[in-house]
Amino acid sequence: MLPYGRQSIDDDDIAAVVEALRSALLTTGPTVADFEAALAQATGAPFVATVSSGTAALHAAYRAVGIGPDDEVVVPALTFAATANAALYLGARPVFADVDRETGTLDPESAERVITHRTRAIVAVDYAGHPADYDALRDIASRRGLVLVDDAAHSLGATDRGRRIGELADVATLSFHPVKHITTGEGGAVLSRDPDVHRKAVEFRSHGIVREQVRLRRQEGSWYNEMQDLGFNYRLTDVQSALGISQLRKLPQFLERRRQIAAKYDRELSGLEAFRIPGRRDGVEPAWHLYVLRIDGDPAFRAQRRRVAFDALRERGLGVQVHYLPVYLHPYYQDMGYGPGLCPVAEEFYSQAISIPIFPAMTDPEADYVVEAVRDVARDLD
Ligand SMILES: *Cc1c(COP(=O)(O)O)cnc(C)c1O
Repeated sequence: MLPYGRQSIDDDDIAAVVEALRSALLTTGPTVADFEAALAQATGAPFVATVSSGTAALHAAYRAVGIGPDDEVVVPALTFAATANAALYLGARPVFADVDRETGTLDPESAERVITHRTRAIVAVDYAGHPADYDALRDIASRRGLVLVDDAAHSLGATDRGRRIGELADVATLSFHPVKHITTGEGGAVLSRDPDVHRKAVEFRSHGIVREQVRLRRQEGSWYNEMQDLGFNYRLTDVQSALGISQLRKLPQFLERRRQIAAKYDRELSGLEAFRIPGRRDGVEPAWHLYVLRIDGDPAFRAQRRRVAFDALRERGLGVQVHYLPVYLHPYYQDMGYGPGLCPVAEEFYSQAISIPIFPAMTDPEADYVVEAVRDVARDLD
């Protein structure tokens, strides 16, 4: 089975991890800071705090920008549940906005429509690796006095008119899960532009404990540290950071290969009646975390056609997947009172979507095989 995404680990990565295992500090040693510096370089973000997962990054980022009980956080319906869950962790309420029909990213008009006096932040997701419309979102956030957050779990390496993901929002979060662009097993990062937000994220990932600054203020002695806020243990280890540094060095190659495969799919699959290829906004260079085909045709038969196509692709050995069930349709959210009909475009997008395999280690014959399988299935659907 060709999965929709998979990590690339080579001998360099393995050697880096082994070396880290032989060093004195397994966690929170110098390698964590080295990885953070490399991430800052790669993303254009002035400050980077690594954490133990993309979900922890969202939790820390929301906390660091001041989201708390009874605040509302605008999130797109078409995303992984963690984008919304992290608001719930803080006692805040996720408010779902609809997505753009072409790119599946947060629709700025829909986002603006759901803002209330309780709204604290707008969170956009760079669905499939395509940056959301941050110019329009920035305009809204500035006018309404809101923080702009980018869940960039899909978009490490993407650009919008040359701007990188560390340069598009106030805060951005990354995931280093194995299906993402680079991996540390589990891992994530908070990218920020404000030193105060960065400091809060750093404290939050380590129990809310503060060391250096208080030492200067107190005369207790050099052992002294104090807990100033309720935090978590969300630290990334030195061993993971060593893997992250080694992976990040290969990001340009990884991106290049993803772009080659996406260009092949665009070329070879654009003429089909049954499927639509992914949309793209002018000036955007996506990072292609996912390549999402959408079933065209009569909405009345779409769910049925999607199921048939999905099963037929699986039968041909493609590990296709669907990204995503709109978050508010998960039973946990429906139990909270959310229900169908809230974001019609996201619901339609979901009913059409099929993610086909794309990852850097894919060979040309494998990519050709995907093209043939999709064409076969499209023919059978018509
Ligand atoms: C992967 C992902 C996350 C969560 O990342 P983890 O590292 O798995 O915790 C959050 N948001 C989106 C959009 C993701 O794809």
